[in-house]
Amino acid sequence: LFTASLTACSSERNDDEGGNDATGGTATEGGLIGIAMPTKSLERWNRDGSHLDELLKDAGFETSLQYADNKVDQQITQIQNMINDGAKVLVVASIDGTALGPVLEDAASKDIKVIAYDRLINDTANVDYYATFDNYKVGQLQGEFIKDQLKLGEGNGPFNFEPFAGSPDDNNAKFFFQGAWDILSQYVDSKELVVKSGKAPASDDDWQSIGILGWGSDDAQAEMENRLNSFYTGGEKVDVVLSPNDSLALGIAQALDSAGYKAGDGGDWPVLTGQDADKANVLNMLDGKQSMTVWKDTRELGDAVAKMVQEIVAGGDVTVNDTETYNNNVKTVPTLLLDPQVVTPDSVESILVESGFYKAGDLGL
Ligand code: BGC
Repeated sequence: LFTASLTACSSERNDDEGGNDATGGTATEGGLIGIAMPTKSLERWNRDGSHLDELLKDAGFETSLQYADNKVDQQITQIQNMINDGAKVLVVASIDGTALGPVLEDAASKDIKVIAYDRLINDTANVDYYATFDNYKVGQLQGEFIKDQLKLGEGNGPFNFEPFAGSPDDNNAKFFFQGAWDILSQYVDSKELVVKSGKAPASDDDWQSIGILGWGSDDAQAEMENRLNSFYTGGEKVDVVLSPNDSLALGIAQALDSAGYKAGDGGDWPVLTGQDADKANVLNMLDGKQSMTVWKDTRELGDAVAKMVQEIVAGGDVTVNDTETYNNNVKTVPTLLLDPQVVTPDSVESILVESGFYKAGDLGL
């Protein structure tokens, strides 16, 4: 007599960053869904990837979740492998939004549908849907926060202001900057905000000149140190820094720390914005070293995209709520836009802990 022992076989092809695991798992009913994420080096993408992966598996799909170490060629190879493995749908958070045309051409020829995840994919007709948080609003929330904190427009300035922008190859970065700049540029013009480094865009199209390629904390730190060492040597203080996200804010805070800025009551720490509610930044907020973050609940985005995937596979209507905003130079991509939200040190507990995004213990609360 034989006893058949059935061992549960994981269908995951989840892989360490840098590699590409071509060995398949057991195909489940729903078919294969490819999930291409940019990098593990940023906390949010780890959350994004694992949440979506779990949801899709629970819904009966096989998944291939890949991280590309912020390397464009690696991401293209990973997507090509997903296509070769017979993926039904590709969910792609692109590294360079303009570099995926050829590989997505191949996907389209095999009738594979493509969802741009968080970042729009540009210059191709072969992106079917886009799901993201309202990127322009993220920037607006940062700009409004700065305006409120400094009470701009009430004659309190001038304030020394250093603006930063995100990675020039990331389509989102343009929207983040534009949202903030549409609120703040009038105060730069009126000299209520003074950019001592001169690193302010000359025009709307010029935001890339102050962008940090690859969104790295180290590069943001180096840039902030450079500005402090070159333009603030005579005892002047920076009053406010526009940082588009948390990875940049972390580097900027390091530079401020090294330059001797002090947080807390009576301190001279500048107003500093961010985005993502990464743990290190939430801890910085609780220490007075970051003034706010724009929180995008990645669980919500994952839920929305998992639903889109199911709708696509079922062949019915796909839920979107914006068919006008996101033109990728070839077409306007039907988009599902979610709402970002401001978190300040005072609302860490009521928003981030109560929603279960963090446990109080994770934050030492
Ligand atoms: C995302 C941000 C993130 C940044 C760096 C952007 O495209 O929308 O949430 O902070 O990339 O990874």
